[in-house]
Amino acid sequence: MTETRSTCPYCGVGCGVIIESEGPQITGVRGDPDHPANFGRLCTKGSTLHLTASAAVTRQTRLLQPMRRAGRGEAPVPVSWDAALDHAAGKFAQLIHDHGPDAVGFYISGQLLTEDYYVFNKLAKGLVGTNNVDTNSRLCMSSAVAGYKQTLGADAPPACYDDVSHAQCLFIAGSNAAWAHPILFRRIEEARAANPALKIIVADPRRTGTAEIADLFLPLQPGTDVMLFNGLLHIMLWEGWTQPGYIAAHTSGFDELKALVRDCTPDLVAQTCGIARQDLFTAAQWFATSAATLSLYCQGLNQSSSGTAKNTALINLHLATGQIGKPGAGPFSLTGQPNAMGGREVGGLANLLSAHRELANPQHRAEVAALWGLPSVPEKPGKPAVEMFQAAADGEIKALWIACTNPAQSMPDQAMVRRALERAEFVVVQEAFATTASCAHADLLLPATTWGEKTGTVTNSERRISRVRPAVPGPGQTRHDWAIAVDFAHRLEQRLRPGQPTLFPYPLADAGVEAIWNEHRESTRGRDLDITGMSYAALDERPLQWPMRSGDTQGRARLYEDGRFPTADGRARFVANAYRPVAEPRESRYPFALTTGRLRDQWHGMSRTGTLGRLFGHVAEPAVQLHPQDMARRQLRDGDLVHVTSKRGSIVLPAQASAEVGLSQAFIAMHWGEEFLSGVSSTGKPLAGVNALTTSAACPDSKQPELKHAAVKILKA
Ligand code: SF4
Repeated sequence: MTETRSTCPYCGVGCGVIIESEGPQITGVRGDPDHPANFGRLCTKGSTLHLTASAAVTRQTRLLQPMRRAGRGEAPVPVSWDAALDHAAGKFAQLIHDHGPDAVGFYISGQLLTEDYYVFNKLAKGLVGTNNVDTNSRLCMSSAVAGYKQTLGADAPPACYDDVSHAQCLFIAGSNAAWAHPILFRRIEEARAANPALKIIVADPRRTGTAEIADLFLPLQPGTDVMLFNGLLHIMLWEGWTQPGYIAAHTSGFDELKALVRDCTPDLVAQTCGIARQDLFTAAQWFATSAATLSLYCQGLNQSSSGTAKNTALINLHLATGQIGKPGAGPFSLTGQPNAMGGREVGGLANLLSAHRELANPQHRAEVAALWGLPSVPEKPGKPAVEMFQAAADGEIKALWIACTNPAQSMPDQAMVRRALERAEFVVVQEAFATTASCAHADLLLPATTWGEKTGTVTNSERRISRVRPAVPGPGQTRHDWAIAVDFAHRLEQRLRPGQPTLFPYPLADAGVEAIWNEHRESTRGRDLDITGMSYAALDERPLQWPMRSGDTQGRARLYEDGRFPTADGRARFVANAYRPVAEPRESRYPFALTTGRLRDQWHGMSRTGTLGRLFGHVAEPAVQLHPQDMARRQLRDGDLVHVTSKRGSIVLPAQASAEVGLSQAFIAMHWGEEFLSGVSSTGKPLAGVNALTTSAACPDSKQPELKHAAVKILKA
């Protein structure tokens, strides 16, 4: 038996795993006792990884050879890699020639490795000359990114997991960490057991498993977080619980915020958020006056049409109370996907450039052009995820390259996404699994390796970079994601810039991935995330946190301990945002507030976890959860089938009474796809999953769509 150290491919906790293998077969997995994210622990998903990688499962689920469809709706037929990539390069070159570089788009994934991400970003921005490269991280963390940048000056989570054990107050907002980040939640439980004085506040419209550990639960109305946070600041100011010394020495913009929150009186906040007045005072006091307050937050804040405002309003509280830059204190976003952080680091979003550089900054564009040996990189902003698909639906984007993600299930407003996939002239899907809904829309299918087969790096929520290592070779004709992108780039270069030296001088053998890593880390020199000290050799010894400059012997656990921030004047900035309601408020025809979220034992569209019977032991089938009083008022009993309908579509599923859900609210898990949860669009076209209902309305700053709220009606089927 061989043992290989690697990283779990599911959530942003980023647990280390040891993979056991015999020959070409993965036979077991256990937690890596030396990995600082999990110290040997794994949750149900991580501990069953080997079972999802068995040959019996792989034979049924994996895409094993390149396939091409002669026409939409026809069965795909096998083709060689050469034929597939030459065909793709020819189509892309022709569309770029006829319609310009912005006629193509790349939609990639927070589940790619950093090296994969780097190549795709360079392929779009450096070779094709378009910024139309975006990722499912747009649906996950882009509000957190915008929030950090607007307030602290850089997209850098300032805290670390170890801070959980130093905190005296934990403020958990819009996060069901008990299910979505289980191994981090174990730390919270340990902190609770070790420190009876620890105060835990949970703010969430649903009384989730995480709320069970709370000393104070704030069941706010969906989408009212900004009002809650501004109201807490109002109370802190009124009671003298802010830190004027810290505000004066380290921040700017407080007067404007102070003027804004003057109107956020406890009565108004209590009424708007649906929270008892006394609970607001208790939360404000615990947050502001504890020796160290750590906020943990996730998609409840991010997946919102006010996502950036929610993030900044929470960070405002930390700055106003000096709860940052010391052990156990700070705002700490929990990353949804395993490598949403790595994607941000290489600039793999439509508005970013390598190493946290800004597309809108001419100096940054010049720096990236110089790094890549180009006269310039394109200035025109690319289209973020939802706009990219809308542009394809409108005929503006004519070719889509989709890698390691399943937009035909995971993006909001599926009716629009289906129109995009149907109207695009050429759709490439680069995937490990043949079973995803997006595969049915592909003109060309490219088989990729996946967990247990790939090599590279990922970054977890606490800025810690870990190595991902292969235990077995990929099955069939699968190839690594970065190698597919590089091979395609070489063929496209021959058509777009013949005779010029390649922009992708990486060997297609395994050594290529380290060459990509070294180019990426050189691009970070002098930046806030400088990782010039992180060679593969250093990372092979242990996972490391950034920044870690050349010559450093270790990374930095905690940021801003000196009170200086990466802004022009070194001060953090308060951001004054008034509360705005959700994009689609409840009304008489659509009287329920629908929210979506994760289950404990499933991951995304279930292409991996859905292959394992035991992971259905926790929740066996889809259901819409409703408050028991709403069930009674509609004369519904558990298991009765209901139509859940929004302005965009309708699905049918069983109703289930749940005390977790508030009155006039509904909850449906995000995971169930075509095999489990069929539906129709408002025009009668077949759709599937909860995203038949969700809205593509997005935050104006982060462009992250409001997956956490849609107005729906519920009628007995
Ligand atoms: Fe994997 Fe997340 Fe579970 Fe850790 S907590 S084992 S990273 S799914």
